[in-house]
Amino acid sequence: MKLPVKRCKHCQSILYTSKYHCTSCYSDELELTEIDSKGKIYSYTKIHAAPKQFADQTPYYIILVHLDQGLRVTGRFNGNQVEINTPVELEEIKDRAYFFKATTA
Ligand SMILES: [Zn+2]
Repeated sequence: MKLPVKRCKHCQSILYTSKYHCTSCYSDELELTEIDSKGKIYSYTKIHAAPKQFADQTPYYIILVHLDQGLRVTGRFNGNQVEINTPVELEEIKDRAYFFKATTA
């Protein structure tokens, strides 16, 4: 599954969709696009005490993914075995949260 991002028309930097200005050249000419979501787990944390709306889902993992395209994004991990450097890719976007799954590549 592709990951939605913004790309700077001026310098081609890849940015989070929440950005309104390029963090490299400050241009506001950004376009919505999608990039490959494959990456590796860079860091993670296990959530035991969650906000009320997620309390019934504990324990769950929040992971920081270093995408092959260079960007680092945070998301949830659909699975129970988390290790640094595990290859992952985006599986779904739910309530504006990214859910990643492990891949075998
Ligand atoms: Zn730029």
